[in-house]
Amino acid sequence: MWTRILAAALGAALWLGALAGEWRVGEIPCCYVVYPTPDESPLAKVQEIYQAVTGLWLPPGVSLGELAAQWRANISPQLLPPSPERALVVLYDDLEEYWRDVNYFGVEGLFYYAVPDGVLEGPLGEFAQREPAATVLGCVTACCLYRPWEATLAHELTHMIQNLVGFEVPELGLDPDLLLEGMARWTEYALGYRGSTEWKLAREMAAIWVREVDDLSTAPLFVAYELGATLVGKLAERLPPPAILGLFSWGPKATGGASREGFLVAFREAYGEGWDAFLRGWLAGLRTAEISREGELLYEFRRKSIMLRASFLWPLLSPGEREEFLQLKEAFYNGTASEKELQWAEETLANAWAEPTDGILSALERRQGSLKYWVRIISGPAASAEVTRLNIVRLSSSPEEYVRAFVDLVNTYLVFRVPAAQAGGAPRP
Ligand SMILES: [Zn+2]
Repeated sequence: MWTRILAAALGAALWLGALAGEWRVGEIPCCYVVYPTPDESPLAKVQEIYQAVTGLWLPPGVSLGELAAQWRANISPQLLPPSPERALVVLYDDLEEYWRDVNYFGVEGLFYYAVPDGVLEGPLGEFAQREPAATVLGCVTACCLYRPWEATLAHELTHMIQNLVGFEVPELGLDPDLLLEGMARWTEYALGYRGSTEWKLAREMAAIWVREVDDLSTAPLFVAYELGATLVGKLAERLPPPAILGLFSWGPKATGGASREGFLVAFREAYGEGWDAFLRGWLAGLRTAEISREGELLYEFRRKSIMLRASFLWPLLSPGEREEFLQLKEAFYNGTASEKELQWAEETLANAWAEPTDGILSALERRQGSLKYWVRIISGPAASAEVTRLNIVRLSSSPEEYVRAFVDLVNTYLVFRVPAAQAGGAPRP
């Protein structure tokens, strides 16, 4: 009888557990926060980061709610639900689960103005159930709670601010990512979520790029964040951050989008000299920067997309290897990694292998859409057709051959084919 009572009690406990869901929803002044149940409450930290980011970029007294409301100025308030006041922040504590749920492998954070179908289903389902009437300013996601995630959240919140001010880079012959991502990355440093050694190495990475390639119209993603952060850092030496944001904010009233002429006039007025002179000064500073071996190693770590490739091969790596990759990432960023670690990473990725069980095969198959996207960005459209060809290998060859083809594809097409860092640091003429 006791056994029956115990079984019934356990059954009820399991049922209650399932009912409670894996996700918890918290509400704080800035945000609704959805986070995994067993984790410690991140609410106070989220509020603190939100205040730091908005305090950095917005003029005193301006809130994101007000920025959101400006887009509704010409619509009768009776026709719309109340203007949103809070952001939605969704935090994860597991990378594989995160990548799967956003279907965007290799990333640690994202900003969505509108969340597409089929994305973040678990946490959003829980949120909709708990807060059915909530409207939000935008959705920011970040991984991973058990590692430093503060910089990622600060980065994505910056993108939310950009969205709410109608951020746009006019035609300046400059890759817009340099400002879009540069602002978000610079925020991480400006608020102290990344340290001064990292800043020094990021600057060296940017310096290697401008010495090797004299073109700012397209900056490959592996260096655009760092290069852009140095550009925004240079602007911030003279302009307060809200003034920098203001230069690229076109709001709801801009007709015909961002205007080059309007920007150039506003820039000269605010900065005290012309845009071209500013660019020359910024590049001259980078060209004379000293480059250390650690800076070259970080550049190579990023150019070879070590972490992106690891994210695609994650199911084939052992738990020990995954942990090693996560630690290596920190080490390359803070200058404590050496050539040996880069070689270990290359060899581990080249030899990635696991018995092709059903679980492994489906984990690889669900990566193909995201892999195609990244291959297209890094190696071009012809290479992305190779990802489609993987389907034929899956259907016509053995599971072992499919795994091998997948690993080769990741290691061939996710490496940026641009000038490598020159060991020794000698600048080219
Ligand atoms: Zn970004």
